[in-house]
Amino acid sequence: MSKAVDALRRQFPIFASRPAPFHYLDNAATGQICRPAADALIHYETAARANVKRGVYRLADEASVAFHKARAEMAAYLGAERPEEVIFTSGTTLALNIAAHALAPRLHEGDEILLSELEHHSNIVPWQLVAQQKGAKVRAIPVTDEGRLDYDALERVVTDRTRIVAVSHCSNVTGAVTDVGRIKEAASAVGALLVVDGAQRAPHGPLDVRALGCDLYACSGHKMFAATGCGVLWGRRELLDELPPFLGGGEMIRQVSIERSTFAPPPHRFEAGTPPIGAALAMGAAAAWLSTLDWGALTEREMALTGRLLDGLSAIDGVRIQGPRGLQGRAGVVSFDVEDVHAHDVCQMLDADGVCLRGGHHCAQPLMDRFGLAATTRASIALYNDEADIDALLTGLEKTIARLR
Ligand code: PMP
Repeated sequence: MSKAVDALRRQFPIFASRPAPFHYLDNAATGQICRPAADALIHYETAARANVKRGVYRLADEASVAFHKARAEMAAYLGAERPEEVIFTSGTTLALNIAAHALAPRLHEGDEILLSELEHHSNIVPWQLVAQQKGAKVRAIPVTDEGRLDYDALERVVTDRTRIVAVSHCSNVTGAVTDVGRIKEAASAVGALLVVDGAQRAPHGPLDVRALGCDLYACSGHKMFAATGCGVLWGRRELLDELPPFLGGGEMIRQVSIERSTFAPPPHRFEAGTPPIGAALAMGAAAAWLSTLDWGALTEREMALTGRLLDGLSAIDGVRIQGPRGLQGRAGVVSFDVEDVHAHDVCQMLDADGVCLRGGHHCAQPLMDRFGLAATTRASIALYNDEADIDALLTGLEKTIARLR
């Protein structure tokens, strides 16, 4: 193992506690928690725990200050203009549900919401729910045989009825990275808002949501090496100011009477009830730590590993990559299917060699339909992976195929 990877792994407690062999390649499902995040979570829960926003005693005030710091750390990581643009949620799923329901009043009968065929269910189902309520229509940007968005189809699928475009920044199945600029151009041409599901992009280095040109951006803490149970919805301040709340409850109001309520300004309007405080502090700590890393070098290594995996898979008879074969415009999420072998069998057999993979539809059934498959096997790379992880996968896969065929 290289010195650089070794130093990184020392920042992830799991590597010291799992028995070898341990080749964790299921990072698209969840990343491992980093030490700064684990420390922040444990410190809060065991030594600094109080509810936030309203207490006047010192412990409660300290918790509120720490919570605001986490918001500021996430704002810095995302490239937000102000911490108030960051809404803490339970994850990408809630973030996208808030987005859909808060934008729903802007939809009218016959309006269109444009998604893509490669979306995760959490960027499909919330839009279907609001479309049904409003008599709007859900349409999709088609996907090429290589598992990328078909940008040539934009002219056809973006219409003067398109009000919202919601796409993932990076596919959790094919690894294709969306050219958000191109989508933005098409959305802007018809005055549509742009929502980006950043669940798979956020773990791979700081972002600049303003430069990206989107209106709302969603991501999950557990994929960003923080705790489970927390995520973020970022929104342009001017837009958030105009949006109604989705969930009602404590902490999101200005004034409540039995008949009606008025609401607090963002982000509180969108954070009903006690937020996931410990997990939010962990997310802030992870973001602050990630921001200190050399992402030029890390991205180069992640892409070199992706190339090694793609080359290795291409050389195995009966293995078909479901996604871009080249490195251009893709990230380290690699799906494949094996002729005559079910994805779950592949995953189970590789588990014997300590290789953690995921097999299934990856919450992307429309994409599976597009590929004519029920399932794929997926390997997904994070900053702590190395050549040994990739080679264990490839060797184990060859062994598995020889045994099962
Ligand atoms: N979108 C994408 C692209 C994802 O990969 C995932 C998680 N697999 C989600 C949304 C949902 O994230 P969460 O389960 O953390 O809410």
